[in-house]
Amino acid sequence: MTGYALVETSYPSDLEGYRLALRRHLASDPHLDRFRGRHHVSTEERISTDAELMSALAGTGGWNLYGWPQQIGGLGGDERHRGILYDELSRAGLPVPEPHLLLETLCPAVTRFAPHLTERYAPAYLRGKEWWGQCFSEPEAGSDLAALRTRARREGDHYVVSGQKLWTSHGATATRLVVLVRTGTTESRHRGLSMIMLDVDSPGVTVRPIALASGDNELAEIFFDDVVVPADHLIGEEGQGWTVAMFLLQYERAMYAWQSASVALRRITELRDLVTSLPGPPPDGARRRIGAVYVDIVTLRARSSHTVRRLAAGETVGPEASVDKVLLAAAEQGLNDLARDLLGPHFLLSNRPEVQAWRAEWWYSRSATILGGSSEVQRTILADHVLGLPKEHQR
Ligand SMILES: Cc1cc2nc3c(=O)[nH]c(=O)nc-3n(C[C@H](O)[C@H](O)[C@H](O)COP(=O)(O)OP(=O)(O)OC[C@H]3O[C@@H](n4cnc5c(N)ncnc54)[C@H](O)[C@@H]3O)c2cc1C
Repeated sequence: MTGYALVETSYPSDLEGYRLALRRHLASDPHLDRFRGRHHVSTEERISTDAELMSALAGTGGWNLYGWPQQIGGLGGDERHRGILYDELSRAGLPVPEPHLLLETLCPAVTRFAPHLTERYAPAYLRGKEWWGQCFSEPEAGSDLAALRTRARREGDHYVVSGQKLWTSHGATATRLVVLVRTGTTESRHRGLSMIMLDVDSPGVTVRPIALASGDNELAEIFFDDVVVPADHLIGEEGQGWTVAMFLLQYERAMYAWQSASVALRRITELRDLVTSLPGPPPDGARRRIGAVYVDIVTLRARSSHTVRRLAAGETVGPEASVDKVLLAAAEQGLNDLARDLLGPHFLLSNRPEVQAWRAEWWYSRSATILGGSSEVQRTILADHVLGLPKEHQR
């Protein structure tokens, strides 16, 4: 199912052909110019403009539909096509559309465990008509996710969901939510969890946006007050939520790392141009620092290439995706600290839109060691599940 006539059927098996044709298209379609170098006044405006970009890409050759299965509205291909899309968008000075972040996080797991839901809803997502949020974290359950308390109880042909979620990215504007809920006893920890998809406009859902230091408000806390959800919105079996979440997290960590490196490789050259455009010589040590951060980004990309190829081959990456997540956090914070230091007083005082963007990104980058699982927790996962190190005992 594509809905578009002008699609190329050889690209799913011809990565290089896809890359070159996409590059030509991004350089030559005048309709894309309005998405280049934009600075947005609000999160809502940024996400909806990004969704328009998705719509434009899908509508002119289905460029962002490659890499997704045909059953869910894609054009075939695999994770490598998506990686190429993010690279080429960034290379062309275009944003990686923000809804693609949650698309990468949620869509593979929902397709694997509840294909009927992505067949129904993903075509609209891929075309920028809707986007989803991921509701895992709660006030008392972040790193210790298995402690979550939001409940779903089965009543006939539906579930009734009650509880509270916190830090839902894009939660302020998402139309559908993928929610990790407790269907077992309170003591059942990860064994008593299930995953379910629900509509934000269901009666009993309250969304409260959270204002961030960066000025953004794309995060939200979300309350569920006896929300009725059809039982066929369950993702996987009842009690299988932890398995679904672990499958999902490898995509969240791996594909976010790829997207971030795509963007960072562009941003570091933009920073170089901005710094050299300022009056006076660049600060001492600028060349060395830019080089060091560049190496961190390239290191992330090298690791990420390996991971994305494994996902594309259908392998389970599992806990090894924590390496990508740790490298991502270091590269993202390193790049933004570099911008702060090289821009000096301009970073604090300038109202130039490009400097304002660096300021907002610096604030947001503080969360790189927390979101999607903190760096401390990632290192523990690596110690326990990849390196098999013995437990350290508290003294
Ligand atoms: C920008 C942003 C976007 C987010 N988006 C989403 C989203 O879309 N959906 C969603 O569900 N959640 C989201 N989150 C939430 C995120 O997953 C949690 O913040 C994260 O898992 C940490 O949980 P917490 O905030 O409760 O911190 P805590 O778990 O309370 O951790 C606080 C500190 O203690 C440390 N710590 C905790 N336990 C251990 C341990 N066992 N060993 C060592 N150190 C430990 C942590 O590393 C951290 O430094 C987002 C968070 C941010 C900041």
